[in-house]
Amino acid sequence: MKIIDTHTHIYDEKFQLDFDTVMKNIKEQMEGIISVGFDLESSRKSIELAHKYPFVYAVVGVHPVDIKKYNDNTEKELEKLALTEKKIVAIGEIGLDYHWMEDPKEIQKDGFRKQMKLAQKVNLPVVIHTREALEDTLNVLSEFPSVGGILHCYPGSFQAVKPFLERYYIGVGGTVTFKNNRKTKELVHALSLDKIVLETDCPYLTPVPFRGKRNEPVYTKYIAEEIARIKEIPVEKVIEKTTQNAKKIYRL
Ligand SMILES: [Zn+2]
Repeated sequence: MKIIDTHTHIYDEKFQLDFDTVMKNIKEQMEGIISVGFDLESSRKSIELAHKYPFVYAVVGVHPVDIKKYNDNTEKELEKLALTEKKIVAIGEIGLDYHWMEDPKEIQKDGFRKQMKLAQKVNLPVVIHTREALEDTLNVLSEFPSVGGILHCYPGSFQAVKPFLERYYIGVGGTVTFKNNRKTKELVHALSLDKIVLETDCPYLTPVPFRGKRNEPVYTKYIAEEIARIKEIPVEKVIEKTTQNAKKIYRL
């Protein structure tokens, strides 16, 4: 079994120069990748790529940092896409970001809730972004008990997320390979492998040994290796289980 990268921004301009090589490497080495939008335009780009490449799937939605772009028309368009495009596998990335604080909390929560409702309506899972806003994020998730998905780049403790693990998977990315990141290593240790999916969030959050350079989907193998080290299990087992998890949540 090969790896699925559950969270990429593969349409990013940082891939412009060697896009074909990056895609060729994915095709040869991986099971597939998910291209995640942060606004309507990048969502459309993700769908285009999903049409062009059999191993690419799309997630559509508006990121909390861009939430001022979200209005009734955006919602209608996202709904139309979600109902007609077969390769859309989730609504995302959506959530709350109190680090950049581009818009007030209430506006962010409103856009987040509307997109949770949309996911419920079109019967798709969600991909959640949460930064310095964990409590409010989890409170909103509690309001939608029939929706599940992936908590991408989850920054909290195992205890805080435990009540959500029945419906949500945890996306583990390159930061788990950072030497001083005890928190994420402990989280991975506490989590059952049944609840973990692999993600790069490329071009960002590059794992060791390429930390500081541009990230790309094939680097997920370094994340799998670190999880195997932490859990003291073979890396093949990590790959097999996380790929099964990704297929299950995205219904691939
Ligand atoms: Zn992302």
